[in-house]
Amino acid sequence: MFEFCNQWFELFNRPQAYTHTFVKIKHLLKTMIQTKGYAAQTPETDLAPWNFERREVGPHDVQIEIQFCGVCHSDLHQIKNDWFPGLFPMVPGHEIVGRIVKVGDHVKNFKEGELAGVGCLVDSCQVCENCKNDLEQYCLDGNTQTYNNNDRQGVPTYGGYSNSIVVREEFVLHISEKLDLAATAPLLCAGITTYSPLRHWKVGKGHKLAVVGLGGLGHMGVKFGVAFGAEVTVLSTSASKEEAAKELGAHHFIVTKDAAQVEAVKNTFDFILDTVSADHDMNMYVSLLKTDGTLIGVGVPSQYAVHPFALLGGRKSIAGSGIGGIKETQEMLDFCAEHNIVSDIELIDIKDITASYERMEKGDVRYRFVIDIATL
Ligand code: NAP
Ligand code: ZN
Repeated sequence: MFEFCNQWFELFNRPQAYTHTFVKIKHLLKTMIQTKGYAAQTPETDLAPWNFERREVGPHDVQIEIQFCGVCHSDLHQIKNDWFPGLFPMVPGHEIVGRIVKVGDHVKNFKEGELAGVGCLVDSCQVCENCKNDLEQYCLDGNTQTYNNNDRQGVPTYGGYSNSIVVREEFVLHISEKLDLAATAPLLCAGITTYSPLRHWKVGKGHKLAVVGLGGLGHMGVKFGVAFGAEVTVLSTSASKEEAAKELGAHHFIVTKDAAQVEAVKNTFDFILDTVSADHDMNMYVSLLKTDGTLIGVGVPSQYAVHPFALLGGRKSIAGSGIGGIKETQEMLDFCAEHNIVSDIELIDIKDITASYERMEKGDVRYRFVIDIATL
């Protein structure tokens, strides 16, 4: 209100400021979109209902009525401040699918009524070398994340545990009508995060690929590894997941708590896709790589600790990979539609979100929780 009065004062006393002032007043009076969501108010509190506002649909924006949102381990890391002090209240969620309810006047590629998706990114500078090379996730000016970030106007972003989202069209994805919609949601993060590195390192026929951790990311890594023609082994701490891993298409299953099973696969893998969310013994996993093998880290434990001998005794590499660019995310979604690949999910009511986080932390999810946003 103070700012609003100030604008009028400026208007009457400095006529030359008319144009600037009218723009500001228009902004202050702009209709915002009333949105229902679930938020954590602090890192210590559970998620609970919270209403907030989103910007009105601008000329280049798309508004999506959200139907389903996947639950990523990154949501849990972020509401608990595992990575850095977060922005609270925090509405998590970056595996978003739903129907377009409004498009701005200049939107070219989307129409009202179509299915659409949003992943981890909602903006980037669009002009740096990485953005120009379709690597917006590595934007040199810093990408804008779907939640727990300030957008390029300095307004906090809120994610998909909510009933509506407004995103500029360059960051909206086309979603096939052919696939189960709820099971498609996790492709927007777990899907692209595993698809992108496997494509980058050209993993396929003739390669032995190990996937560490059979959770949300891991089970998508298995599906893509198999679809690309690799011989896939799951390295898991949970013996109980063996049968399900084989159903996902994995050729072999190793229980990493069993020293004899681990010993039997030493120096055998061309690639290891490591999706583990907690600290673990990297030296042991690196010892399973062949000479010149690469461990690709996509999980986010607190550190990657490895002894130099583990790498130089076999010219081995540890690499990292973050989500994927928008063009590649669309390519992945189209690949999934063509090959009938979706996530294996457990659909939940939003009121069960805290219990679902507890189960996810214990590795007790087959393999992704997805929130039915109709329960919001
Ligand atoms: P998730 O569903 O919880 O799966 C993680 C799996 O890791 C668990 O199911 C478990 O599988 C295994 N695991 C857990 N604790 C372990 C331990 N102490 N030692 C060995 N294995 C352990 O999590 P998610 O959603 O797939 O996410 C995994 C990680 O990727 C998170 O850190 C997340 O933040 C990160 N992430 C990164 C990106 C990126 O851009 N790079 C994108 C999304 C997510 P088993 O029961 O089979 O052992
Ligand atoms: Zn994620």
